[in-house]
Amino acid sequence: MRTGFYPGSFDPPTVGHSDIMRRGLKLFDRLVVGIGVHPKKAPMFDDAERISMIQEEFRRLGAGDRAQAVLFTGLTVEAARKYGAECILRGLRDGGDLNYEMQLSGMNAQLAPDIETIFVAASPQTAHITATLVRQIMSLNGDVSGFVSPGVLRAIQCRHQRS
Ligand code: ADP
Repeated sequence: MRTGFYPGSFDPPTVGHSDIMRRGLKLFDRLVVGIGVHPKKAPMFDDAERISMIQEEFRRLGAGDRAQAVLFTGLTVEAARKYGAECILRGLRDGGDLNYEMQLSGMNAQLAPDIETIFVAASPQTAHITATLVRQIMSLNGDVSGFVSPGVLRAIQCRHQRS
């Protein structure tokens, strides 16, 4: 059984992330989305919110028991090993991603030669979407409905009503 580990911040998960998750589910028997927790970096959406938004995405994608959302701290390669993944899955949007991802995958390969990084090219319809800009638009009260799935939008709206 092949397991892929898809790490990121997912703050919040966008339709770009969902596209990579959907395609990862075709590549692997099992897909684990790892939400990286940084002790010094406060996310806009807390750990529980991001886990539940990703679970909702997996439900929407019909992933069933082939998918899991987890939190991790520390090295990505160690988290991938912990969840039994042979591969790290990453999305590539543009040249900027490529330059960074080349360094990251090279260093991860040196740290853990048994773990391969697999890149999936972003789909043209979602390649321009970044969670950072979604957060920025949200903070300016803009409409993010074109950048996140309906489940994530509901979570964002609930949060807005609370604040
Ligand atoms: P972001 O870079 O948008 O803040 P993350 O750090 O959570 O998001 O990214 C996790 C992974 O998802 C990275 O491999 C990143 O390249 C990929 N990714 C993010 N947005 C997209 C997108 N729109 N299309 C394809 N891959 C994406």
